[in-house]
Amino acid sequence: MSQTDAARPWEVQRRGLLLLISSPSGAGKTSLSRRLVADHDDLVLSISATTRAPRPGEEEGREYYFVTPERFDEMVAGGQLLEWAHVHDNRYGTPRAPVEAALAAGQDVLFDIDWQGAAQVRAALPEDSASVFVLPPSWADLARRLNARAQDSAAVIQRRLERGREEITHWGDYDYVIVNKNFDRAYADLGHIYRAERMKPTRNPWLPDFVRRLGSESLS
Ligand code: ADP
Repeated sequence: MSQTDAARPWEVQRRGLLLLISSPSGAGKTSLSRRLVADHDDLVLSISATTRAPRPGEEEGREYYFVTPERFDEMVAGGQLLEWAHVHDNRYGTPRAPVEAALAAGQDVLFDIDWQGAAQVRAALPEDSASVFVLPPSWADLARRLNARAQDSAAVIQRRLERGREEITHWGDYDYVIVNKNFDRAYADLGHIYRAERMKPTRNPWLPDFVRRLGSESLS
């Protein structure tokens, strides 16, 4: 550590944290997450491994790590995934090693993840995780947003709404809950949660030394 770093340890030494964000589809977790990542240099989106084929324009290690089903089996068997799930005909999971490396380097990782994935990550790294559940202000708003997003067919929207009903029953497992009525307000609240979580003593290993040093400085 350089002289300057020793004098201002809070600027360089911090263990990263995992910010887990879940919500029913359409409640706003993607919009909130993207903006939070765009606004913070030391926050990155988690990158999953998947057995599905790359789509045009997707790059290995940017959208996903693309792996064969055999390799995915090996990763599961070797405990190399923090969480994983079947989605339709493919499997998706979060490789443990890059996440551990980020934490050690003081980089935060954001997970846009469903309640089952969040539960697995929380169980694997409980001290490092902070979780936020995003609720819509009403079911009518949620349906309106899914329709306005114009990304899915009516049948897919219907399925998303049905799955959303199940998803919201897990709100009580989360550290924080945000009702996303006004986007800017919800985003500000998410930012406050994130900033506060970074200041937990457990994430700041320099604190004991720092306080010891403060305590030994002259009172005058
Ligand atoms: P999710 O990732 O939870 O499925 P999105 O972030 O894609 O949700 O948001 C769903 C749609 O709702 C998007 O079109 C988004 O722009 C819109 N949206 C998000 N938050 C709000 C809000 N507070 N008010 C109105 N529309 C919103």
